[in-house]
Amino acid sequence: MPLPSAAQTVAAGAQDAQQVDVAVVGAGFAGLYLLIRLRRAGFTAVALEAADDVGGTWYWNRYPGARCDIQTTDYSYTFDPELESAWRWSEKYATQPEILRYLGFVADRYDLRRDIRFGTKVQTATWDEAAQRWLLTTDNGKPVSCRYYIMASGCLSAPKPPEIDGVGDFTGEIYFTGRWPHEGVELAGKRVAVIGTGSSGVQSIPRIAEQAAHLTVFQRTPNFAFPAHNGPQPPDRVAALEKDRADYRQQARLSLTGVPLERATEFSWQLSDAERRQRFEKALAAGDLVAMLSQLWADQGGDLEGNALAADLLRERIHAIVKDPETAEALTPRDHPFGSKRPCLETDYYATFNRPNVTLVNLRQEPIKRITASGIETDRRIVDLDVIVFATGFDAMTGAITAVHPITGRDGKSLSDVWAGGPRTYLGLTVAGFPNLFMITGPGSPSVFSNMVVSIEQHADWVVDRLMAMREAGFTAIEATEAAQAGWARHMADCSQLTLHRLANTWYTGANVPGKAPGLMPYPGGVGPYRTICDEVVSRGMLGFNLSGPDGAVQCNDGEVVRLQPDVRLVLNMLAELNLPPLESLGAEGARSFVKQFNATRPAGRPVGEIVDATLQGADGPLPYRLYRPSTPGPHPIVVYFHGGGWVLGDEQSDDPFCRDMCRRSGMIFVSVGYRHAPEHCFPAAAEDGYAALRWIAENAAELGGRLDANGAGPLLVAGWSAGGNIAAVTCQLARDRGGPPIAGQLLVCPVTDCTFDRPSYIENAEGYFLTRSLMDWFWGHYCPAADRTDPRASPLRGKLAGLPPAFVATCEFDPLRDEGIAYAEAMAAAGVPVEQLQARGHFHSSLMMVDVVATGASGRVKMAEALRRFAGMAERPEEAMPKAAE
Ligand SMILES: Cc1cc2nc3c(=O)[nH]c(=O)nc-3n(C[C@H](O)[C@H](O)[C@H](O)COP(=O)(O)OP(=O)(O)OC[C@H]3O[C@@H](n4cnc5c(N)ncnc54)[C@H](O)[C@@H]3O)c2cc1C
Repeated sequence: MPLPSAAQTVAAGAQDAQQVDVAVVGAGFAGLYLLIRLRRAGFTAVALEAADDVGGTWYWNRYPGARCDIQTTDYSYTFDPELESAWRWSEKYATQPEILRYLGFVADRYDLRRDIRFGTKVQTATWDEAAQRWLLTTDNGKPVSCRYYIMASGCLSAPKPPEIDGVGDFTGEIYFTGRWPHEGVELAGKRVAVIGTGSSGVQSIPRIAEQAAHLTVFQRTPNFAFPAHNGPQPPDRVAALEKDRADYRQQARLSLTGVPLERATEFSWQLSDAERRQRFEKALAAGDLVAMLSQLWADQGGDLEGNALAADLLRERIHAIVKDPETAEALTPRDHPFGSKRPCLETDYYATFNRPNVTLVNLRQEPIKRITASGIETDRRIVDLDVIVFATGFDAMTGAITAVHPITGRDGKSLSDVWAGGPRTYLGLTVAGFPNLFMITGPGSPSVFSNMVVSIEQHADWVVDRLMAMREAGFTAIEATEAAQAGWARHMADCSQLTLHRLANTWYTGANVPGKAPGLMPYPGGVGPYRTICDEVVSRGMLGFNLSGPDGAVQCNDGEVVRLQPDVRLVLNMLAELNLPPLESLGAEGARSFVKQFNATRPAGRPVGEIVDATLQGADGPLPYRLYRPSTPGPHPIVVYFHGGGWVLGDEQSDDPFCRDMCRRSGMIFVSVGYRHAPEHCFPAAAEDGYAALRWIAENAAELGGRLDANGAGPLLVAGWSAGGNIAAVTCQLARDRGGPPIAGQLLVCPVTDCTFDRPSYIENAEGYFLTRSLMDWFWGHYCPAADRTDPRASPLRGKLAGLPPAFVATCEFDPLRDEGIAYAEAMAAAGVPVEQLQARGHFHSSLMMVDVVATGASGRVKMAEALRRFAGMAERPEEAMPKAAE
């Protein structure tokens, strides 16, 4: 007899299945809120829950000391003000029983239990293309046939199985923190082991040590931990909430973490040692994860140097508490930046290791060989035990999703296969090839990088709102496109460059589960930006989604929702919100003073060895210059630098952060020249000043601290940004044609090279990226009469290009000047000039200048500095000598 096809099996299963519009897997924070929303929206829904009651995380994790680590003021539902007034938390960090009571209270208040099938595990899920429905099989009762299938199965709900030989041989008791018995565990008088020192270990170890006869802690990786200072809810936080509840919650939704705390804006190098310590002590006293992770200094999360300053203070504290120096050192994290792994809030954790009944075993030095019938054997010792507690964490983010196996989508594809190389999603909510499947806090959602309740509410609202809109429009299927999903992966990778998470092996990256494909799974761009992106998807016609309906109705507006670098997106949004008048409407003087004021609000830039302000001889009189000298011993090669500003704006100080940064990274002197400006001094004043400045600097190189070669002149280089890039390019041509001085290399950043406005980049980026077509028109109008614009001193692309110094040309994707920069690079290369190009994806005209604001520009500046060093014949800088940034 022929076997039935998969489609036939699905059709047969669907016949006696429970029929609903929406099936939800899980009855934790997410599942409960989904039920409320779905019911209110008029959908029939069922939640399938493996546990015997609601609660999710808080149902399963009943180990001693289990609490939340986001303050309960914030770790609560916010969708119903009446619910908020009806519940009062008793502590700053509520215990597991209290949070479980809260979720039970919510289930009762909204009468949710009648739509939940408890003790029911979903086993498989299959998309039926013909019926446009999912069929879910379960281990208990009828299958479920649904139009929409929502996994609210939790990021941290699949405990990781132990990877140690011999677990089955142990004759004592074995417990998992994530599956703790409801009746509790009697530990008094027993010899107990805890394996693992993540959040659950750090919370449970002090409580277990109080009860056990002896506790042996087996630690592979020490975590950063600092005190929770638990107690009543802090009055200031409660007052902030109660002053204006709606506003407080809205601030949380727009914040980066889902907790409305101000982030530090000063950089570590702007603070003295004493000021830094004071901030650290304040955050320590607050006992707040978000405060410690964001309120020390602005560079603590994205820059290794700034991070190390925080990490050192935390390390110092461990040594101050733990009496035995060897134990203290073993507990001290040294293999990952602070915050790259989830730090823990502790209550007596470090002090516990001073107890006589507690031993720490450092698995880095003595790995576990096996678990035996009577205990644990390491390379160095045998520990006899009555109880082993595994606090070894979870198969995070994907574990509970792929535990439903197979999830079979379109064309019979299994989700586990599709994700074999790592999870791929669009917005962390959907997967291409799996229509009508949604995940709440799936991989690619802010999830565990946020106060989860805020993310959960946003996801559930977004999903249910979409289902309602589809119903309204007559669509019955929704599916992410491959292009949108690939774009989301790129955006995730771009965001991760702004953090240090990629530098640590953690459950965030799947590194805790053997064989799991590595990659950062939570979305690191922040809950506020994430929310605006989801909203943008909707406002741009469900961008990146394929919608279809029963009568052949189809809508697909394909594309990537975020093509800008994440910090560029924030900067441009901020500028748009300021609603600034166009620069060209202010007149030259007005625009100059505006730019000066604007620049005054920038971060100050990092210190260099020395800064000297003086004058040099220009083409027609003295010109101011600012010299940046590295802190390394001189003499140094000199870079003659020309600032941007459309030949009209700016001065020798206006690119100060860039010059400092490049001076530090390249180890070269930068001399920023204050050339004459239009309209007072039109073409060719700026170009001639550029060349005159080069000559003067060459002649005075020794006095300036420049390195000299055998001919008495050191490697001299030129660089410039925007109109300054134009002057730098022109200077190279003039130096070639007028007998020197020789130039070792040219760095052109987003240079103006030609006077026409007809290249595609001018059309694509005419508006919206700060440097507009209209502004460029205004600049050209001031600088150069139309008749002179084809002169190579104005449009160097039109000059002779052979024989120019080697060049590095950087262009930005969203810049009207992009194509003329690329054209110049290509034309030089065609003329035999060695040329390197950087085409910065997702950046705008000012990106590479906005040091410490657009951190994703740092990698571009690293490449520029390396190129300058190559041009000057200097060795590549050893890694440790490079100023560290989030490159
Ligand atoms: C100890 C601990 C402390 C935490 N503290 C915080 C904190 O302070 N702040 C914070 O933001 N987050 C915290 N978290 C993260 C926490 O998981 C979330 O805040 C939140 O509880 C997740 O809710 P959820 O509904 O998405 O998932 P969960 O609460 O994990 O619920 C998912 C449910 O789905 C069920 N399920 C899964 N698969 C199936 C299946 N195939 N069939 C049937 N049922 C299934 C599970 O049984 C589970 O009950 C903590 C996590 C842990 C483990």
